[in-house]
Amino acid sequence: MSIYWSQLVSQLDPYTPGEQPQDQQYIKLNTNESPYPPAPAVAQTLKGFDFDGLRRYPDPQSAQLVNALAAYHGLQPEQVFVGNGSDEVLAHLFQAFFKKDEPILFPDISYSFYPVYCRLYQIEYRQPALQADFTIDLRDYAVENGGIIIPNPNAPTGIALAPAALRELLADNPESVVVIDEAYVDFGAESALSLIDEFANLLVVRTYSKSRNLAGLRLGYALGHVDLIEGLQRIKNSFNSYPIDSLAAAAGLAALGDEAYFQDCNRRIVASRERLKSELADLGFEVFPSLANFVFVRHADAAAEKLYLELKAAGILVRYFKSPRIDDCLRISVGSDEECDALLAALKQILG
Ligand code: PMP
Repeated sequence: MSIYWSQLVSQLDPYTPGEQPQDQQYIKLNTNESPYPPAPAVAQTLKGFDFDGLRRYPDPQSAQLVNALAAYHGLQPEQVFVGNGSDEVLAHLFQAFFKKDEPILFPDISYSFYPVYCRLYQIEYRQPALQADFTIDLRDYAVENGGIIIPNPNAPTGIALAPAALRELLADNPESVVVIDEAYVDFGAESALSLIDEFANLLVVRTYSKSRNLAGLRLGYALGHVDLIEGLQRIKNSFNSYPIDSLAAAAGLAALGDEAYFQDCNRRIVASRERLKSELADLGFEVFPSLANFVFVRHADAAAEKLYLELKAAGILVRYFKSPRIDDCLRISVGSDEECDALLAALKQILG
């Protein structure tokens, strides 16, 4: 607290990201990063980068990257917006589309950055409760609202909406922008992208941080109707002309070019996830049906916080949320097979 702070700053309750320890080497299964390196073309591009070019500002439109993303997704460049991580894209869209008379809606158990943006931009929100099995009841969203945002698959549960539910959600809400946060969609869920031409109120948000193995690069993007993209541009151009630095633009382009590597890494993660689910179930965990690169679990006989602490003492970081309804659960990112083996061995020991 400081006398120099604005009233807004005093009232903020900032987001706490998962631990990124800089001292000790952990098996890191707490922030849904990829266990695999970025595509080989990324390293080649950065090694061959024209460093003299860093004297210059980057292209404020990131046109090369935007054009490549448009071509990749079968859209027009005017339907693509890029940002410094999808968190920045999310921040901009909250400000661009959600400041309305009615509260916006997102699930009570969901990405915990959403309420943080609401406080930052002073947006009213309501959080319909997930059902007991952590699925979404669409009827909760067929009410007047100032906008809707849902991660699909949801985080931290990993549970995805059925494809028909996406269409219903959009059709029910023609007056609101409906944002589908697809940070984890490449691990098996159905994307809402096929609905973009049909619904002018749909915005799909993607990230390079998970399925493209590039959390450190900070690249995310949104896809949607040209009017929504223009709205995001207006915010971005009132905030930071150059959110994508030259290195990130070049590396992002290179990553997009290696489809085989992308598919292969994601296939491996899905296979490891399914093995992890079945072995955790064998250890007595209730395992929610995740389609993401993490699993969400709880154990009837072992407190989640204690498991989190004992795993940490054993050199393995997982994510524990001390939040209502999920403080008996752990979210565990899918690591390499060796990392999964180490996790399972540690849990076997802890659980006796
Ligand atoms: N959306 C969801 C649902 C997430 O879990 C995350 C990762 N914390 C993000 C968006 C943000 O990812 P990034 O800013 O790395 O693109």
